[in-house]
Amino acid sequence: MSRTVYVNGAYVPEEEAKVSVFDRGFLFADGIYEVTAVLDGKICEWEGHVARLERSLGEIGMKMPMSVSGLLEVHREMVKRNNLEEGAIYLQVTRGATDRDFLMPEGLEQTVILFTQAKKLTGEKTGLRVVSVPDIRWGRRDIKTVQLLAASLMKTEAKKQGKDDCWMVEEGFVTEGSSNNTYIITKEGKIITRNLTNSILPGITRKSVLRLVKELDMEIEERPFTIEEAQNAAEAFMTAATSFVTPVIEVDGVGLGGGTPGPVTKRLIEVYIEESRKASC
Ligand code: PMP
Repeated sequence: MSRTVYVNGAYVPEEEAKVSVFDRGFLFADGIYEVTAVLDGKICEWEGHVARLERSLGEIGMKMPMSVSGLLEVHREMVKRNNLEEGAIYLQVTRGATDRDFLMPEGLEQTVILFTQAKKLTGEKTGLRVVSVPDIRWGRRDIKTVQLLAASLMKTEAKKQGKDDCWMVEEGFVTEGSSNNTYIITKEGKIITRNLTNSILPGITRKSVLRLVKELDMEIEERPFTIEEAQNAAEAFMTAATSFVTPVIEVDGVGLGGGTPGPVTKRLIEVYIEESRKASC
């Protein structure tokens, strides 16, 4: 079924949507994106995503394409026009179109695009098998740019190896998954996840999950961990806007917790979805 997409102020059938071949998003990956989950036709974690959008844009010298309330309206309109009950909304903002030049031009009209993907985000999760790969991405992974080639190559490599995702490793420590933040739970029940620096994206799901973990009185340590530590962990999981909390059951061929999702991860899956539904708008 054809979707309705949003392009620069207009809602159009996806087949009719057009952007310039000179768009800097296309020529230089000069753009920022955000992804929000939709549950029961409502947008999850709106405030977190819109705050990160503004920060990412600012880091590359771009401004917000419209007001926060205007953006929310467009998101809601996309849900309505696409009858989206459960799935994701992608928002892409590029610097705009101009003749090809490495020098960033000032005052271009930004390209603003939204599209939806209907998919089941809730339901039983069997767990992912991950493989480690060198992290070959650039040094500003804290900015959510549309420059996703390295992550895409690495995820494809993981699939070639018959696995579900990759865990990227830099200087001996896991940075993150192809499009998610990563966590291990030690045998003593402590949750370890990498601290926020330019090496990883500050996940919106990560922020909420850490808050919930604190509320549940679980211990957290924010620091880098190794693949070996992960292989010796009781449980592992990942978080992302469109997959919430997802168990990881194998790391480089070593099964965790007997190869099935562990109890803490299962609890976090439930609690996160419950909270996310409550806070959706
Ligand atoms: N790290 C990377 C590299 C990602 O692409 C994503 C997904 N956008 C995340 C982490 C998770 O972030 P969020 O919870 O905001 O989706």
